[in-house]
Amino acid sequence: MFKLGVTGGIGSGKSTVTKILVENYNAYEFEADIVAKKIVAENEQLKEEFKQTFGSRFFDELGNLKRREFAEFVFSDKERTRKLNSLVHPKVKEAATEHFQKAKDEGRSFFVHNAPLIFEAGIEKQLDAVLVVAVSEENALKRTIERDKTTENEVKLRMSKQMPLAEKIAKADFVIWNDGGFEKLKTAVENFYEKHLKDKL
Ligand code: ADP
Repeated sequence: MFKLGVTGGIGSGKSTVTKILVENYNAYEFEADIVAKKIVAENEQLKEEFKQTFGSRFFDELGNLKRREFAEFVFSDKERTRKLNSLVHPKVKEAATEHFQKAKDEGRSFFVHNAPLIFEAGIEKQLDAVLVVAVSEENALKRTIERDKTTENEVKLRMSKQMPLAEKIAKADFVIWNDGGFEKLKTAVENFYEKHLKDKL
């Protein structure tokens, strides 16, 4: 089964593009961030590893991770971020393998790995092609603030940690620009499917 990576910066439209592929072409969506969040919340072994690596002060009396404080602590430091990723990524990879099987069992036509950090985590090696959804910083900012009900500074901080868009585009097999409206995006995804995907499935 064909594995397509869909990546791009925050608020670029990855989830929207993936949704179009699922609804129109029977794709299976693997949303890496959601799966990672679930793993972090539920995997006891991983929680133990977090405690040993970062200390138990990030857990409340019920054993739940204090996500906000933990995220602030980890993502403010490159080495801590690298360590966290080295603990979480193998588990997400395992989950992706299970989901891939599920996609096959369900008779889906292809598998979409939707993740902001495909290139940063080297996941492209396990995929057949990677599509980058690209958008101007202005639109990404505006749309993310609206979607997440958050502030400009907070989104800018998240953006500053991303791989620059030009680098992602250079590594990508395909690029879809998403600076127009929803209808334009839908047409671009349809064209992409017809031209580059359909014959490979
Ligand atoms: P990502 O998954 O890359 O973070 P989303 O697909 O969630 O991005 O899109 C970010 C926000 O922008 C969402 O609220 C989405 O509905 C909106 N959006 C996406 N594409 C467009 C578009 N072409 N025009 C207007 N809003 C859009």
